[in-house]
Amino acid sequence: MKAIRVHQFGDPSVMKLEDISGSAPGQGQVLVSVKAAGVNPVDTYIRSGVYAVLPSLPYTPGIDGAGVVDAVGAGVRDFVKGDRVYFGGTVDGRAVGAYAEAALCLPEQVHRLPDPISFAQGAGLNVPYVTAWRALFDKGRAQPGETVLIHGASGAVGIAAVQMARAAGLRVFGTAGTDRGRALAAGQGAHEVFDHAAADYQKQITAKTDGKGIDLVIEMLANVNLVRDLEMIAVRGRVVIVGNRGSIELNPRAIMSKDAVVTGLTNWNATPKEFATAHAAIIAGMERSGFKPEVGKELPLAEASRAHVEVMKAGAYGKIVLIP
Ligand code: NAP
Repeated sequence: MKAIRVHQFGDPSVMKLEDISGSAPGQGQVLVSVKAAGVNPVDTYIRSGVYAVLPSLPYTPGIDGAGVVDAVGAGVRDFVKGDRVYFGGTVDGRAVGAYAEAALCLPEQVHRLPDPISFAQGAGLNVPYVTAWRALFDKGRAQPGETVLIHGASGAVGIAAVQMARAAGLRVFGTAGTDRGRALAAGQGAHEVFDHAAADYQKQITAKTDGKGIDLVIEMLANVNLVRDLEMIAVRGRVVIVGNRGSIELNPRAIMSKDAVVTGLTNWNATPKEFATAHAAIIAGMERSGFKPEVGKELPLAEASRAHVEVMKAGAYGKIVLIP
């Protein structure tokens, strides 16, 4: 089968389309014919060799995908050949991930894809939607009627968070760096949108809360925004760090003086029960509450290098997926 292979860590050009041997599903395994693979920023951190946990070389990148069950091994009861599914992770994700024509998964890594959701959209579900769910509800304790700021609402996690927060009855503020990104966030349910590059965006946001402040911030770039987030939140406000790309200096008094909570999450740390809860909520949300990934760009699998360049550029617009 065709798969992207990385033989040395480095810039996006280290990803090459190659032929590798496929595997039949063993006992308790599900073989998925991949129709789309999701490109997540973490795929680029791993490929460049800077991430905390690295695969041994060579490897095939990618965590997320969607497709059709091709075959199941002995003992698999929940899936049959032909089922439409999305998946998060593979049996040996550190060797052969989702950027390939087929993915060998454990049943708990595979989830049913409701009919109206396309394969390209399905490839945008696992990391972005589980992250958004955990950030809002497990870590952020979001409550109906509260005001949430999705700080970075134009990308894959941000769009998921906007949809979820709106469906849960929060007042949703979103930021993006482009008109197009702000229009996308508004179209997905944000009540108010702001430009995180505008000099006075913090003042604009605070004014929209009648000076009370934001109850919850879901933060996609903490090294840039955390100090200002703590100025913008209400007393007893919470900040959940989802994304961060550097270090900062912070006066802890900013947390103390507001009885604030600053927390964060890394998806790998979720327990099996937390993953199962998130996926159950995501599937119900697709069936009943309008959860639907916004696919901004579809590229052929052979253009994985370009996808890695694009996903790190400013001006996000939903999800980037690769089509094998
Ligand atoms: P993405 O699709 O590339 O979106 C990036 C988002 O960050 C865009 O909305 C972008 O807005 C926004 N952004 C850029 N500059 C910003 C700023 N100064 N202030 C606020 N937002 C800003 O990426 P993603 O998949 O949504 O992931 C978002 C971040 O979360 C990434 O850093 C990713 O690595 C991280 N993440 C972490 C976990 C975890 O387990 N902790 C899981 C998933 C993702 P514009 O482009 O419109 O400026």
